[in-house]
Amino acid sequence: MDYNSSISVAGPERSANYLIDSHCHIHNTKDFDSTPEEIIARANQNGIKQMIVIGTSHEDSLAAKNFAETHDNIFWSYGIHPSEAGDWASEIADLPISGSVAIGEVGLDYHYQPYDRAAQIRLFEEMLALAQKHNLPLIFHIREAFDDFFPIVDNQHIKNAVVHSFSDSQINLEKALDRGYYIGVNGLATFANIPLPPVERMLLETDAPYLTPKPFRGKINESAYIKHIAEYLAFKLNIPLEKITEETTKNVQVLFQLPQPILRPA
Ligand SMILES: [Zn+2]
Repeated sequence: MDYNSSISVAGPERSANYLIDSHCHIHNTKDFDSTPEEIIARANQNGIKQMIVIGTSHEDSLAAKNFAETHDNIFWSYGIHPSEAGDWASEIADLPISGSVAIGEVGLDYHYQPYDRAAQIRLFEEMLALAQKHNLPLIFHIREAFDDFFPIVDNQHIKNAVVHSFSDSQINLEKALDRGYYIGVNGLATFANIPLPPVERMLLETDAPYLTPKPFRGKINESAYIKHIAEYLAFKLNIPLEKITEETTKNVQVLFQLPQPILRPA
């Protein structure tokens, strides 16, 4: 299997020596006991130079947009999480997605009963169409729903995407890789036995404030912990930390077309 076949040649020429948190919710300041400035400073001190804040509803996406527009090196994504499917009734033509680096997190989640499968699929298909219309990559949240997910994305010929927080089977991991998708790896990998993608297809994420990695379980997750996730993966996969850093940062920048970070003296 050639995992590299669909990766574009565009992107940064020099290899990066910093990490990126490709999926976090640090714009929800009420979920943290530090200020955004403290969270960003700790991330920077630990070598994390860019972060993408992810919307989960229309209102939350606007908060993510505002957060990105008022902080250096923060990008944002417009998304409506499948758990919001029942309440969602907007016209997609009017959505304020200018400046968004992706559409997500969007997807299907059949974990919590009861769920409205038809409403989730309808919202998901609208979000796929929105991404296609604006030529944006997708950030997928898929939980216990891969049997519905694959036919839908195949039908719409979705190419540029990450399956965030993947925690399903090896077979479904391979199906996602076969479609050219990146796989988002977070703190789950440090405490749960989940299949891991090759580093050439891996994005690092925290999903902060959720999914705090070992050995910080019980604390509020934050972007600085990307460093510990990277170190854990280097150990577990027996790959040099520099290669994990270089590959995962390049992958984020290629998928989301991020510029180089603005670096200011500390
Ligand atoms: Zn998330």
